[in-house]
Amino acid sequence: PTTPPLRLNDGNTMPQLGYGVWRVSNEDAVACVTEAIKAGYRSIDTAAIYENEEGVGHALAASDIPRNDLFITTKLWNDRRSYDGALSAFDESLKRLKLDFVDLYLIHWPGVSGEGFLDAWRALIRLKEEGRVKSIGVSNFQVKHLRRLIDETGVAPALNQIELHPRFQQKELCAFHAQHGIATECWGPLGQGSLVADEKLAAIGRKYGKTPAQVILRWHLDSGFVVIPKSVTPSRIRENIDVFDFKLDANDMRIIESMDDKGGRVGPDPAVFG
Ligand code: NAD
Repeated sequence: PTTPPLRLNDGNTMPQLGYGVWRVSNEDAVACVTEAIKAGYRSIDTAAIYENEEGVGHALAASDIPRNDLFITTKLWNDRRSYDGALSAFDESLKRLKLDFVDLYLIHWPGVSGEGFLDAWRALIRLKEEGRVKSIGVSNFQVKHLRRLIDETGVAPALNQIELHPRFQQKELCAFHAQHGIATECWGPLGQGSLVADEKLAAIGRKYGKTPAQVILRWHLDSGFVVIPKSVTPSRIRENIDVFDFKLDANDMRIIESMDDKGGRVGPDPAVFG
């Protein structure tokens, strides 16, 4: 399968579907990322805190896919959320990944105090100017954090990576993104596995010969989001990218949109975590 590209506000493009490796060990990351690349994924989402950048790097080094056809994301952890902290943490990530640039570098969490992310952002702007990062963005930012970033630095992130799935759709935040040309990248797209047994989604899937997981991921794509499902099971890794041969109709989209629940968060809340 080929993953369609999505254009970012800085002119770069990224695959609309990628492979996430949270809670994959450094050892397992080698086989999992190799499997994902074999299945057709070209975008890999890791983070310093996942402690598997080395394993990801091994898989990338061993693959015969040209570097420019891959899209590698990593993230700045909270304990380095300062100007100098970000610059040195970035160097360390790059070294572990065995790369000389990453495609996307994200501030992982804004932080409850709101301290530090502006300085870290200024460091990311510098890294982009130096060409060591192609695109820069944030993760788990709320509207107030995004406003501050834009007001104080004049540079909007290329994207915001947030928890987003049928049961937690974050519509207000997405509207803000759209207004400011910020792409929405969805983590926990399958509700971290909690949505794959949903009967409404299964019923939609039966119309197309697709699984609930595939219906969910198709919904993300048809909504214009970037999405990065995770699995360590080869058959599911393949299943999750086998979503480019069908499209949901308007009624399916409405059914899924009606599943939204303000209390449907499955991961940490940036208002109290990070
Ligand atoms: P997810 O929604 O992708 O769910 C993954 C889980 O769903 C798997 O562990 C497995 O149990 C199940 N699953 C996967 N495919 C399946 C299938 N086809 N059928 C049945 N079950 C299936 O959750 P996630 O891993 O939390 O999110 C995806 C990626 O997003 C992560 O790996 C990571 O890269 C990123 N992420 C980022 C943040 C952040 O703060 N920025 C937080 C969490 C995750």
